[in-house]
Amino acid sequence: MIIVLKKWTLSDKADLIALCNAVDRTYLSARLPYPYTNADADRWLGIVELNEGKMGIFRAIVVNEKIVGSVSVEKDDKNPLEAELGYMLLTDYWSKSIMTKAVSQICEIVFRELAIERIVAKFFEVNVASMRVLEKNGFVYSGIIEKHRSSIGNVGNVKVFYLQRPVGAQDTKQVVKRSETPASPPIRTSAFTNFPLIISGPCSVESEEQIMATAQALAKIPEVKMLRGGIWKPRTRPEAFEGRGEEGLAWLREAKCETGLPTATEVATPNHVELALKYDVDALWIGARTVVNPFSVQQLADALRGVDVPVFIKNPVSPDLNLWVGAFERFQKAGVKQLAAIHRGFAYYKETPYRNFPMWEIPIELTQRLNVPLITDVSHICGNRELLQATAQKALDLATDGLMIECHINPDEALTDAKQQITPEELKALLDNLIFRSKNSCNVERDLANLRGEIDDIDGELLQLLARRMEVSAQIGEYKKSHNVTVVQMDRWKKILADHVATGSDLGLSSALITEIFEAIHQASIERQSRVMES
Ligand code: PEP
Ligand code: MN
Repeated sequence: MIIVLKKWTLSDKADLIALCNAVDRTYLSARLPYPYTNADADRWLGIVELNEGKMGIFRAIVVNEKIVGSVSVEKDDKNPLEAELGYMLLTDYWSKSIMTKAVSQICEIVFRELAIERIVAKFFEVNVASMRVLEKNGFVYSGIIEKHRSSIGNVGNVKVFYLQRPVGAQDTKQVVKRSETPASPPIRTSAFTNFPLIISGPCSVESEEQIMATAQALAKIPEVKMLRGGIWKPRTRPEAFEGRGEEGLAWLREAKCETGLPTATEVATPNHVELALKYDVDALWIGARTVVNPFSVQQLADALRGVDVPVFIKNPVSPDLNLWVGAFERFQKAGVKQLAAIHRGFAYYKETPYRNFPMWEIPIELTQRLNVPLITDVSHICGNRELLQATAQKALDLATDGLMIECHINPDEALTDAKQQITPEELKALLDNLIFRSKNSCNVERDLANLRGEIDDIDGELLQLLARRMEVSAQIGEYKKSHNVTVVQMDRWKKILADHVATGSDLGLSSALITEIFEAIHQASIERQSRVMES
């Protein structure tokens, strides 16, 4: 059973009233009014709002999206080093270890958020179940204070227990928090040690059922090491679905608890960072639209200063290697150590079969400059299902360290990127058909691809230059025509060729090669000029 502790907010008023009126009061303190009215709820929620994180920690206990109890730890005015634990739980939820887990979670939060040394708990002696909850959480019995009156007027002895701040647990208010829920499982693998790292999951977290069903299916595919899910979606048009936000994070965490898959999501603002970490997201990625903006990247780097969380940096939308490198430098300077690149292709000025043109040489050069793992997001490169297999294979051949592939339990109904998402079964088939090469042979491929890319670039430049040369020849043709000069001027040509052979020789190029190339160029030039003169 997944137990989530949620901050109380004013919108929980009706649930709070229902809880306080329904809860069994045998062992509750007389401080809790009965009947519990609208005014009582307003007053208490107001106190919580003012004091949360300062004088106490106050949480609703949520099971299956329903508030079934409340747990809080409040500071003691008289003793600033102490805070007192109190809780209540609807009777139907007793004897299911819910309170043991809720107390464990809140104690961790308290020692992280409040500068106190111990949590004190006072319970009626006859409340045996609560004694067990405390013992399981390491509370130590310290004595009896006699005669307290309960909410329903019972008078009895009250026992006092203490939980001392664990050694090494510091209240680290200044840094973003990693976790509020020790109950959630640890990360299955450290993100950047288990290659190839296959990250899969839906483009967007849409509903609890969708992410849970997708995650459960993905957990059965052994190659899949991490669950992705977009919570905040950068959309072109404002009326498009922009993600579920915080409620989606709770579902993502449930999916992780259920499957053991570590999770990753996109963050674009410091607030996203804080929320993602609060909900135990295991790795963050910075999206292509965010990486184009150095101000945003710097804000994110600052938000992650001192936080040990893996961060993937996608390439910027534009093919700008330095901008991508700059983003890495900003995170490195902020002390973020686990960094990896995600190649998701680039916006291109011409129509191509891809949604985002791969320009493989750019990510390859990035890894040569920065020595970071490289993940290829084939879904956003392709933009369709048909190209995924070949593109994933190409990425592996170029020695990518992992793949990101969007997967949805029902792709056709997806709220974002429907055309490029595949079902878990299709993903399994795709992965089964891939050839995962050894890292060494991949390096050979990667180096070759890089060199071939360079050759392609140089050939392109040669062609541009040849075209320009022909254009200038045509202009000379026009000039000669109007000034009645012959096309071939042998003396000049002989001199040019001799100069080129000499320069070529300085550059290590044979005289035969230079003569052959320039005779061919000269010949084509003469033909072009002749056509101009005959026209
Ligand atoms: C995504 O991964 O869903 C996404 C929006 O990616 P990108 O930033 O690469 O467009
Ligand atoms: Mn997407």
